[in-house]
Amino acid sequence: QLDLRDTLSDLTHLLNRLVGEKVRLTLNHDPDLKQVRADRRQLEQVLMNLVVNARDAMAQGGEIVVETDNLWLDAPMHRDRAIVPAGEWVRIRVMDHGCGIPPEKLHKIFEPFYTTKRPGEGTGLGLSTVYGIVKQSGGYVFVDSAPGEGSCFTLMLPHRAPLA
Ligand code: ADP
Ligand code: MG
Repeated sequence: QLDLRDTLSDLTHLLNRLVGEKVRLTLNHDPDLKQVRADRRQLEQVLMNLVVNARDAMAQGGEIVVETDNLWLDAPMHRDRAIVPAGEWVRIRVMDHGCGIPPEKLHKIFEPFYTTKRPGEGTGLGLSTVYGIVKQSGGYVFVDSAPGEGSCFTLMLPHRAPLA
């Protein structure tokens, strides 16, 4: 079991350095956030990848918001052809007001080596790593995005064994 608030507060300094001067990073935690079943190092990797992507999407600067909360699903949640089982989940959202992702590209972004960045600026491995880690932890990842408006990456991590 992992306390996400500890992980995130220990990571705040590094994340702030990663986003640089032009971008403000705001962390909003649910004070009663439940523990998650996940590996700390891996979750740090996930958060860093998402925050760096959000930063890269905001060339002119802006704000990144990382929000955590508990989510109780009393029925399975259907989304993007996935079915999230009912039960207790911890949700992490990483939101930016950057360039956004065109709808026709959305299905590609989790593929290894898919990148829109110049050589040396991106490997295209960030989101495939995120996807692998989240899946391996029994979780789900969703993205809402609109070009010119921004993106929101939502992670759902299991708190305790979901109801069958
Ligand atoms: P990389 O960052 O090395 O390009 P990723 O796997 O992390 O690789 O991301 C793949 C692609 O998805 C990025 O090149 C970018 O086009 C798109 N992307 C990811 N996150 C965002 C975001 N927050 N806003 C806009 N586009 C994004
Ligand atoms: Mg990346």
